Amino acid sequence: ASAAEREASRAPVATRDGKRVEVCANVASALEAQLAADEGADGVGLLRSEFLFLERDSAPDEATQRGEYQAAVDALGGKPVIVRTLDIGADKQLPYLPLPVVANPALGVRGVRLWQSHPELLDTQLRALLAVTPADALRIMLPMVGDAGELRAVRRRLEALGHEMGLTRLPQLGAMIEVPSAALCAASLASEADFLSIGTNDLTQYALAMDREDPSLAARMDVLHPGVLRLIQATVEGAAGRCPVGVCGAAAGDPLALAVLVALGVDELSVEPARVPAVKAAIRLLDRAALADELPAWLALDDGNALRERLTAWLDERL
Ligand code: PEP
Ligand code: MG
Repeated sequence: ASAAEREASRAPVATRDGKRVEVCANVASALEAQLAADEGADGVGLLRSEFLFLERDSAPDEATQRGEYQAAVDALGGKPVIVRTLDIGADKQLPYLPLPVVANPALGVRGVRLWQSHPELLDTQLRALLAVTPADALRIMLPMVGDAGELRAVRRRLEALGHEMGLTRLPQLGAMIEVPSAALCAASLASEADFLSIGTNDLTQYALAMDREDPSLAARMDVLHPGVLRLIQATVEGAAGRCPVGVCGAAAGDPLALAVLVALGVDELSVEPARVPAVKAAIRLLDRAALADELPAWLALDDGNALRERLTAWLDERL
């Protein structure tokens, strides 16, 4: 990339009509966080902490975790880093954490639901996160949140641990929106959360009742299905300025889907580090108000394919 291109990928972005959108990166290690910084990301929108727990015989201790989280925060030099607490269950398993074998693991104990049976795992991770400095550069995000009560329980735990550690400043605490009922109840969640981030991979799976791991359904697992987009719309409208709403699923980095996400009013997109410059360039070309005018018609279409066709034609005509 030329010096001018590198400069453009570092600068903040807004649509042509002035809607600011943060472009952050999804990473799975402190090393990748450095990559995100190099690509000009505005922060880390999702650090999948599973990487620390995989390929080991036992869970990483507090010091090991703290070292990695601190390294990620240091790499971003003050820009926010959102660390997602351990998201195990369904498609993500640990050898040393046997979960009960159930018929539908995707609908079972996973994500934030795990803390009921394994509170010590959560405590260790929260302590490691609380020890990171500066506290306002780190944000904690909970996966698979179903309602405000789940978030409130973790916040109480975070406050208790912070108190024990003698801390006065606690990191922000947010929730992923991956469960359709949480999307529909976003107003209540947004009152409890410091931020929301939509996990479109799981939200699509649950909204369409299609297993994200089933190759025979892969072609129909479509985030552009109007039903999925309506859940994203409900999230943004429910949050209604109470807290920022981002997207950290794969849709955030898809050229067509990101146009709809920006039209729906999301504040942040978190994408693979290498896609940050392209996503920033794409946002600069969009006219949010003109896109938003089309939304009612697009959301009334039959399916994702119909929407994709209309959107492609609309963008081709204007960009
Ligand atoms: C998602 O579900 O969209 C997400 C970002 O989380 P993961 O893909 O790790 O489940
Ligand atoms: Mg998910």
